[in-house]
Amino acid sequence: MRTEDPLHVRLLRLLRDEGAASRAELGDRLEMPRPRLLAELDRLVALGYVSEAGLAASRGGRRSTLVELSPHLRFAAVDLGASSMDVEVVNGRLEPVAAYAEPADIRSGPKLILQRVNELLDKAKVDGAYERLDAVGIGVPGPVSFRDGVPVSPPIMPGWDRFPVRELLTREHGCPAVVDNDVNIMAIGERHGGVAHSVDDFLFVKIGTGIGCGIYLSGEVYRGTDGCAGDIGHIQVDSHGPMCSCGNVGCLEALFSGAALAKDATVAARAGVSPALAERLAANGTVTALDVAEGAVEGDVTCIQLIRDGGRRVGGVLAGLVSFTNPSMIVIGGGLAQLGHILLAEIRSVVYRRSLPLATGNLPVVLSELGPRAGVAGAAVLASDVAFGEAS
Ligand SMILES: [Zn+2]
Repeated sequence: MRTEDPLHVRLLRLLRDEGAASRAELGDRLEMPRPRLLAELDRLVALGYVSEAGLAASRGGRRSTLVELSPHLRFAAVDLGASSMDVEVVNGRLEPVAAYAEPADIRSGPKLILQRVNELLDKAKVDGAYERLDAVGIGVPGPVSFRDGVPVSPPIMPGWDRFPVRELLTREHGCPAVVDNDVNIMAIGERHGGVAHSVDDFLFVKIGTGIGCGIYLSGEVYRGTDGCAGDIGHIQVDSHGPMCSCGNVGCLEALFSGAALAKDATVAARAGVSPALAERLAANGTVTALDVAEGAVEGDVTCIQLIRDGGRRVGGVLAGLVSFTNPSMIVIGGGLAQLGHILLAEIRSVVYRRSLPLATGNLPVVLSELGPRAGVAGAAVLASDVAFGEAS
């Protein structure tokens, strides 16, 4: 927890993350003098953030009253992918009370996409999930100016450049909103409720349609000057490699990502070197990254090799990042995490072989625990943080 956070933010986060607590417990945990704590709690009750929750078990002497986050608190959490949207409404403890997931093409532009987000939130309201929202958190698949709440020159999001996403959501829902990059929200979700729980220095690598990296340093997301820190998919790994969507050649994600893998798999299926892929191409007319995962599980040598080649590329880039940032964990998530242990084993072997021994002496490289929910989980954390910050 950040020491510079105001007391009310620390108090609300504690109730969010650990549930109802007595005033005495809160005083101990926050090392806050009792009169100040009581005054702060009264203020938060009056503002509607905190409510009484019955009596605590006796610690000897008078039983103290429990307090908890108001049962009426509601946050909207939105994770926009290149081809999907996940929308949740969560309560103060960040437990979902309504959830929707559907395909969506980010290239249809901000007006249509955000209109659909608002329709889903309206539906949740009609269904009784909330009366009013206290904050909205949203992740988008491109660089974001966190300060301004707008996407900035996102390569796969035509029409979104500097579109006032935060302003539009704030106006629509009458509450604060926060916009971040899709990989950052996954990292935030994983740190709050997943495998990186309370880990202060880690890398969250999303391997999906593209490749990106959420960077946690000293307990904070590092976003960089313009919000594009961690855009590792465009690190060049082969100067003679294929053209990338960004206009350069040989970028990591041009060689290994959902799109690149599907392309390589199609070539392999047509060339007749992979019975598993040829069979799927004949049956479905296309092959996808998922087909490669299934082929690998069946023992198809080409599928296994495609995954290993990809893992080696990713591992090579990560080895450099490990030497540079000395993380205590690497988490692999995103759609291609379903390539599973073959991918993980290859990434591990390259990272351990190529990074400095001191940096990898105790470095777990693990799969995301929250899987496809990592993004909305992190958007919910961000939304609650921004709402708690407003309670002053
Ligand atoms: Zn590129």
